[in-house]
Amino acid sequence: GHPALAAFGTTIFAEMSALAIETGAINLGQGFPDSDGPSVVLAAAVAAIEGGRNQYPPGPGTPELLAAIADHQRRFYGIDLDPASEILVTVGATEAIAAAVLALCQPGDEVVTFEPYYDSYAATIALAGATRRTSVLRFPDFALDEASLRAAFSERTRLVLLNTPHNPTGKVFSRTELDLIAQLAREHDAWVLADEVYEHLTFGVPHIPIATLPGMAERTLTISSGGKTFSTTGWKVGWISGPAPAIAAVRGVKQFLTFVGSGPFQPAIATGLGLPATVFAEFAGDLARKRDLLIDGLQDAGLAVAVPDGTYFVIADAASVGATDGLAFCRELPRRAGVVAIPVSVFHDDETAGRTLIRFAFCKQDAVLRDAVARLRALT
Ligand code: PMP
Ligand code: GLN
Repeated sequence: GHPALAAFGTTIFAEMSALAIETGAINLGQGFPDSDGPSVVLAAAVAAIEGGRNQYPPGPGTPELLAAIADHQRRFYGIDLDPASEILVTVGATEAIAAAVLALCQPGDEVVTFEPYYDSYAATIALAGATRRTSVLRFPDFALDEASLRAAFSERTRLVLLNTPHNPTGKVFSRTELDLIAQLAREHDAWVLADEVYEHLTFGVPHIPIATLPGMAERTLTISSGGKTFSTTGWKVGWISGPAPAIAAVRGVKQFLTFVGSGPFQPAIATGLGLPATVFAEFAGDLARKRDLLIDGLQDAGLAVAVPDGTYFVIADAASVGATDGLAFCRELPRRAGVVAIPVSVFHDDETAGRTLIRFAFCKQDAVLRDAVARLRALT
């Protein structure tokens, strides 16, 4: 394989989903919903297929999706974007992350990010020949540690890769925390790549796009995905927006990764982005209830949990049920309790961080969560 990827192996999501299938355990590991999103969104995809939109769409994205992304950013955040030059549709947020890191970073550049981090960040930074510098978010409050963040910056910092709301912790970065990140990015003349795929999955706290902070629009590329918002993770429709020259550079990479994205799903996601704000709020409200259902059950099972303000993930500390190694614990959990979780340690560089932490996904039907919770009582 590629020498830069030697350290990575198979993703934890693939390993744990395979284990779920092999053991018949309830899969609260990999984050994907087990219910369909809005039926109008699904119907729009069917209509696009039946309407013959089955050949290569335009490279930057279909016109109605580009327009819908621009409208969405204006409606929810007051961000003004030119659909023709400041937005690029990608194959999920994953491609946006990869294409942006490859476009912006040269070998030797440094990328500042927070750990635990979403696994594609480290692999993508490695593929670009760049070096990651991290600041640790620690259980249970996952507060930003100013000293370690400052220490992660240097004269080689090219990019800050920020994820808010944050996977796997469920943390939603506060205005104060974002101000500090923005200030450090400006001081070091760095770009910010803001992965905001969980932008609509927040529970009573605001999601603040860092691009809306003073002086940040000109140095921020913002990423999102239809997969999380509309429960269509298998459609892989993502996008990235920001200053035209940077978007042109990302487009230059994207054209040789995938050329274009999938055609009929783009108008369907455009339909979703145009839905009334109440639809977005109801989905988040439903998830908040599921979060509480799972948290109560985890606590009953003797696990200490960090209550997330966003995403559909919750982190528990398996040390509270005697674990010393989260990865070993997660490899045993399906046979021990019939549930699959994800070990957080694989998202850390710091070996002292997250050793016994495990992540559960709660984007599941209530009956599935109740069943999982009942099974987890076997732990006590
Ligand atoms: N970023 C984060 C933080 C995620 O959790 C995910 C979903 N696993 C992605 C990016 C990738 O999104 P997509 O499926 O749209 O590629
Ligand atoms: N984003 C989802 C998660 O964090 C799925 C990731 C994946 O399968 N690559 O679980």
